[in-house]
Amino acid sequence: MCENFSTGPTVLPEKRPISILLAAPRGFCAGVDRAIQIVEQAIRKWGAPVYVRHEIVHNRHVVERLEALGAVFVEELDDCPDDRPVIFSAHGVPKAVPAEARRRTMVYVDATCPLVSKVHVEAQRHFDAGREIVLIGHAGHPEVIGTMGQLPDGAITLIETTADAEAFAPRDPSKLSFVTQTTLSVDDTAEMVGVLQRRFPGIAAPHKEDICYATTNRQDAVKGMAEQSDLVLVIGSPKSSNSVRLVEVAKRAGVRDARLVGSAEDVDWSWFENVRSVGVTAGASAPEDLVEGLIAAIAARFDAAVQEVRVTKEDVTFKLPRVLAE
Ligand code: SF4
Repeated sequence: MCENFSTGPTVLPEKRPISILLAAPRGFCAGVDRAIQIVEQAIRKWGAPVYVRHEIVHNRHVVERLEALGAVFVEELDDCPDDRPVIFSAHGVPKAVPAEARRRTMVYVDATCPLVSKVHVEAQRHFDAGREIVLIGHAGHPEVIGTMGQLPDGAITLIETTADAEAFAPRDPSKLSFVTQTTLSVDDTAEMVGVLQRRFPGIAAPHKEDICYATTNRQDAVKGMAEQSDLVLVIGSPKSSNSVRLVEVAKRAGVRDARLVGSAEDVDWSWFENVRSVGVTAGASAPEDLVEGLIAAIAARFDAAVQEVRVTKEDVTFKLPRVLAE
């Protein structure tokens, strides 16, 4: 004989309360938005496949979505056929790359962010004025390769640390200038610039800050929420310079723990032990649906209250290249 042990509706254990501080601005910047639109429009205009030299922006989810539409990602122009259009990524390319595309009479569209192009123009201006150029940036990042590739070998010296800035020996200190990568830590860069300006008071600086508005705003937003957060989660790729910087900025602002995650799937929920307040942000190449997915995953496990911490509003947009604008 069966006994019925049912005593009524199942009572689920209560979820622990947690507050989610959502940084604003976060996620896509105008340069990333434009680069993605360029690939989408190119596929619409010329049909698939459209080749893209290097990940258009450093985010796997974005790349996979564009691959599904007909984009083919390659690392070098040599990997592209002559008869299909090719797009250069938002990070910028050495001058030799479009020159080679022209030589092969390829159709190409340059998706370099206009704020990276501004640094290229600046470097060229210093070079034309006979100045030696110091580039503050990270070796091996495609933006640094692209900027250094605007000028002949030896015209630009890369420095990565304050120790590099202390050790740098210019050819002629009276003919010196500096430019920077657009996605650096604002504070670390200020230290390196401080060293250069102390050692070489006449060094020519950028007219307007090279670190872009999006990098600066996302770092300010993280600082704004870090004090109140026990844990900060940054959505972004390890290849994304500005995303990696957000983790560093959060740690430097005093948060106990800060992690870079590609999406909610990468979260180790043991990080949430003793966490009452979690800060959430996303690097400039991370789409908002990944942020929404992370918030939903937290809300599935905790009694979550979401509060936006906004430091500024952004209204920057960049036009598409004329060949795709119509
Ligand atoms: S992070 Fe800045 S420089 Fe890079 S694409 Fe976005 S706006 Fe342009």
